[in-house]
Amino acid sequence: MSEKKVRTRFAPSPTGYMHVGNLRTALYAYLCAKSQDGVFVLRIEDTDQERYVEGAVDIIYNTLRETGLVWDEGPDIGGGYGPYIQSQRMGLFKQYAEQLVREGKAYYCFCDKDRLEEMRLVQKASGQAPHYDGHCRSLSAEEIKAKLDAGTPYVIRQKMPREGVTSFEDLVYGHIEVENATLDDQILLKTDGMPTYNFANVVDDHLMGITHVIRGSEYLSSTPKYNLLYEAFGWELPVYIHCPPVMKDAQNKLSKRNGDASYQDLVAKGYLTEAVLNYILLLGWSPKGEEEIFSLPEMIKAFDPAGISKSPAIFDPEKLRYINGAYLRAMTPEGFLEKALPYIDSVVNRDCDKLFLARLLQKRTEVLSDIPEQIDFIDALPDYELELYTSKKMKTTPDTAREALPHIVQCLEDIAPEDWNEEVIHARLFAKIESLGVKNGWLLWPLRVALSGKQFTPGGGVELAALLGREESLARLKKGMEKLQG
Ligand code: GLU
Repeated sequence: MSEKKVRTRFAPSPTGYMHVGNLRTALYAYLCAKSQDGVFVLRIEDTDQERYVEGAVDIIYNTLRETGLVWDEGPDIGGGYGPYIQSQRMGLFKQYAEQLVREGKAYYCFCDKDRLEEMRLVQKASGQAPHYDGHCRSLSAEEIKAKLDAGTPYVIRQKMPREGVTSFEDLVYGHIEVENATLDDQILLKTDGMPTYNFANVVDDHLMGITHVIRGSEYLSSTPKYNLLYEAFGWELPVYIHCPPVMKDAQNKLSKRNGDASYQDLVAKGYLTEAVLNYILLLGWSPKGEEEIFSLPEMIKAFDPAGISKSPAIFDPEKLRYINGAYLRAMTPEGFLEKALPYIDSVVNRDCDKLFLARLLQKRTEVLSDIPEQIDFIDALPDYELELYTSKKMKTTPDTAREALPHIVQCLEDIAPEDWNEEVIHARLFAKIESLGVKNGWLLWPLRVALSGKQFTPGGGVELAALLGREESLARLKKGMEKLQG
């Protein structure tokens, strides 16, 4: 038996940002297709005009392109199952709804607004959940004909079974079932002849040959209704993979408002696209082995939807930082500099070797936006407390620094301007340490503090001296001596 080609789709509604949860759905749908040599389809579900946000379609395209989740069929490139924009498919659905009417699986409903309103009030008063009462389910053929001939407006409703249960197996959530009696006779086609979202979604998935439906768990409870439609048409059900919600903490969903929920926010905060994608992969999915760092091709190889967990995924900023740091360190220094340069240039105007600086930063930067505060001492020495000269670990104090700085100045003044580089500075200072018979920290800690006005810097005193240059370094050291005298 030949296996059917896997076809998955990402079906976003263009309602604004690319939420982390949406991007994860796109990633899993992409991986599910690509790991099985399948086809990844992009369909824009833009029929809810009230929620439509101008520019949101471009955000979807750009995010998918930037992250490398390239679609095989979609609005811009077409494919054999188009159009791929739902609003352009509106003419398609009426015939399917009418087919179900002919087969007795759906019916015309002529109830007007007033009647529906009254029905709701009665239901509310008697404590019932609002639902259609089935008034038009059993109209006679003559009644229907008369109303149609008279041009009475109608919707088409699905005839839900009144008894029994509808169940299905979700790949993540397992066995799901609902009592049919709880299912409303949902509207398939509205008065204006347009499909409802639920109806369009199902018909589109079928017409586009979608074999695996991957989406957020908020659709889990609607899925039995969707399945009853598949059944009514006699269509083959897709495999369902519902993904757990992404939470800020145990109680709260990640929300757009707290500013870290969208892909764009994270990139703006200095996270790398590849790291964000890697982190999102792990939001609810566990690899089989220990390895957590995956490039996109590696993800394709490793992905198995069985690894998706149904417990809510908690967005862990620390983990994201850690993964981002791993990506930053794996870059070439030149590549790192390219990414870091805007952050460096935002605080550094001094003429210095930026590639050298980038090498220092690369070792201890987890997020690019951490860079400015690490190097805010380069342009001008900040005012600092003498207490910074105290280090328990190095066994230094302002007193030891007062003794050490003149040795440093003397040693560095001996270096000719043309010899001023990391290697020479290192060699001279270590020779000094040796001749004085002191611990490294006795000399190097005060050097760092005097050059930066900080205890923690990218690189140590030797590197900072090389970076700042001879003149500036000596000026800062002398300033330190003055401070310590004062
Ligand atoms: N358009 C829906 C959304 O953006 C997706 C529904 C689905 O994937 O079936 O939430």
